[in-house]
Amino acid sequence: MIELRGLSKTYHSASEPVQALQDLNLTIAAGEFVAIMGPSGSGKSTLLHLLGLLDTPDSGTYHLFGREVSKLSDNELAELRSQTLGFVFQSFNLLDRASALENVSIPLLYAVPKLDRQLPETLLSSVGLGDRLLHKTNQLSGGQQQRVAIARALVNTPYVILADEPTGNLDSATQEEIMQIFGELNQQGITVVVVTHELEIANYAQRVIKMRDGAIVSDERKKNGKITLGLRKQDLANLTIRKDLQHSLLTLQAHTVQAMRSLLANKIRSLLSMLGILIGVAAVITMLALGSGAKASLEKQLASLGTNLLVLRQGAKRFGGVSYSAGSVTRFSVEDARQIKESVPDVRWVGPRVVGRGLQVTYADRNWNTNVTGATPEYASIHALDAERGRFYTEAEDQERARVALIGATVLKSLFAEGQNPIGETIKINRIAFQVIGVLKERGESSFGDQDDMILIPLTTAMRRLLGKVYVEAIDIEVSESSLLDDVADRVKKLMMVRHHISPTDKDSFTIRNMAEVRNALAETSHTMAVLLAIIASISLLVGGIGIMNIMLVSVVERTREIGLRKALGATRGDILAQFLVEAVLISALGGVLGIVCGGLGAVLLSTFAGWTTALSLDLVILASSFSIVVGILFGIWPAQRAAKLSPIEALRHTGG
Ligand code: ADP
Ligand code: MG
Repeated sequence: MIELRGLSKTYHSASEPVQALQDLNLTIAAGEFVAIMGPSGSGKSTLLHLLGLLDTPDSGTYHLFGREVSKLSDNELAELRSQTLGFVFQSFNLLDRASALENVSIPLLYAVPKLDRQLPETLLSSVGLGDRLLHKTNQLSGGQQQRVAIARALVNTPYVILADEPTGNLDSATQEEIMQIFGELNQQGITVVVVTHELEIANYAQRVIKMRDGAIVSDERKKNGKITLGLRKQDLANLTIRKDLQHSLLTLQAHTVQAMRSLLANKIRSLLSMLGILIGVAAVITMLALGSGAKASLEKQLASLGTNLLVLRQGAKRFGGVSYSAGSVTRFSVEDARQIKESVPDVRWVGPRVVGRGLQVTYADRNWNTNVTGATPEYASIHALDAERGRFYTEAEDQERARVALIGATVLKSLFAEGQNPIGETIKINRIAFQVIGVLKERGESSFGDQDDMILIPLTTAMRRLLGKVYVEAIDIEVSESSLLDDVADRVKKLMMVRHHISPTDKDSFTIRNMAEVRNALAETSHTMAVLLAIIASISLLVGGIGIMNIMLVSVVERTREIGLRKALGATRGDILAQFLVEAVLISALGGVLGIVCGGLGAVLLSTFAGWTTALSLDLVILASSFSIVVGILFGIWPAQRAAKLSPIEALRHTGG
C-alpha cells in the first residue's frame, strides 16, 4: 500500500544543508501497525510528513495505493489526503476558537458529500469526549486535545493513520489510553504508523522500524503481532473530485461561519478595516443622492426657462437707480415688443413682462410680501407655468386691465388657511383688490429662490393699475427653431439699436440673453458634477479596498498555521481561496451595508436640516452594495491566493502567529 524507493530529502533552509533522509526504502502493507523509533533528529517527522503528502522528497519515488504521488496535481494530492489519510500531529494543531465538535468536523468540509455528518459526534464519544463536544480547545486538557485530534484524523474514515509522537506531551496513563485507541483502530482494519521514542509505546505495534541519521537501521516484525481481520475493501480506482451543489453550499456556509468568527475575534480591527468601505459607500450614497436631487431640481429649472428663448433686457450697469457707466441704459416698452413681433422673421412669439418686487399682499387679517409678475397670457406656456386649480386670464382680460390674479403655492400657504379654496376670493395687492382666479403649479426651490413665492397678473393691469410703469422689465422672444437663435438675436439687436438710436460703441445699453446657452451651461455643470462624484466615489472605494486587502494580508500571515492545517486535512487551493474570499467579501459587504445606512441617514439629514434636495433610490443602494462586494473580491483575491499557494508543511511550521 505504501512503497518508498530511494527517498531522499535535504533541508537547505539552515546555514548548512541537512540531509534528513538518505536513500530510504520502505514498504508498508495494508493493515499493519508500524512504530517508527529513533533518536531526535533522525528524520522520523520528515518521513511521516512525506508519507502524509504534506511535503515532497528531493528524489526517489513514493507509491501510495499504487499511485506515484509526485505525478499528482495539487488538487489530486488534497483529494488523496482527504480520502485516505488521517494525520495526528505532535502539537495537536487544533483551532483555538472552535469547539471540539467543530475541530473534528473540519475534514468533512473538504471531503466528498457521502460521508456521515453524525460521525464527528460518534467519534468524539468513542474517544471518551461525548460530554465535551462544545468545549473550546483551550478548555480541554492535553490528553483530551490529543483525542480530539485523533477523532479528527478518523472522521474521513481513512485507510491510514499517521501519528507523530502522539503521546509525547502526555502522562503515562493517558499515553496508554491513546495507544489503546490506536490499537483498536488497527483492529478495525486501519493501517497505523506511529512515530515515538518510547519503547513501551512501540510495544503496541507489530512492526518496529528504527531510524538513525535519515536511514533505517532495523526493521523487526514481532511474532505475536496480530493479523488484522476485516480489512476494508480498498477501492480507490476512481478517486475523483466529486463535489455537488449541496456540498458547495455547506462549504460556503462553513466558510461564512468561520469568517464571522474571525471577524468577531478581532472586533476593533474588523471595524477599522470596514471603515474605509463604510465611509466610501456612505460618501457615494450621500453624494449621489444629492446629485440626483440636484439634477431633478435642475431639470425643473430648465423646464421653467422655456425653449428657444431669447430675453431682451435693459442694460445691467445700474446701481441704486444711478447709472455709473459711460453709456446710456435703454428701457423697452410694449411697443418695442410689438415691433419685434411684426418686423423680425422667425419669431414665434413675443412676451413683454414687468415685475413688482416685495409688494404687500393682504387677505382678511393675513398679509405677505411677494413679487408680482405682470405678463401676457402666453407667458405661461413659455415658462412652463400652469394653473393647477382655477384658470388663466384671457387676452380680453389683459386688454381690459382686469384685476385678476393667479397665486403661487407659497403665497397660497401664507394667505389662506389650510384646505381653504382661494378661487373667487379677493386679495389686496398694495391695497388694490384682485380676484384670485387660479393657483399656479408648484415649481419648488431653484437657484433663483422660491419659485412659488409669486403672483401672476395681466401685463396691462400690472403696468397701468398696480405698478404705474411705462417700461417693461424684459421681453421674452420665442424663436421658431433653435438653430435660428443667434440670427434672430442679431436681428433684434439691430432693430433695437435703430429704434433707440444707440451707437455701436454703447455695448452695455441692453442685453439679449440666449436661454439655450444658459441651459447648456447648466447641463454642462451637472455633467461635470456627475464626473467629479464618480471620481471621488471610485477613489474612496479604492482606499476602502486597499484597507481590506491590507487586513486580509495580515490575516493570512497570522493564520498561516491554520491554512497549513486545513490543507493537511484535505483542503484544496480552491477551498482556501474561497475561505479567504468569503471573509474579504463579508468585510466589504458589511462595510457596504453600514455605509448605505450611514449614507442614507446623511442624505436625510442634509435634506431636513440643510434643506438640500436629495433623492435616494433602490438603484443607488443596489449599485453601492454590488460595488462593495466587487471591491471585496478584487482586493481579497490577492491575499486569498497567497494563502492558497502555501505548501501545507511550510505553513504548519510557520511560527509568526
Ligand atoms: P525527528 O526524527 O526528530 O522527527 P526530523 O525529521 O524533524 O527529526 O528532522 C531531521 C533533521 O532535519 C534534523 O536534523 C533537523 O534539524 C532537520 N530539519 C527538520 N526540519 C527542518 C527544516 N524545516 N529546516 C531545516 N532543517 C530541518
Ligand atoms: Mg519529530
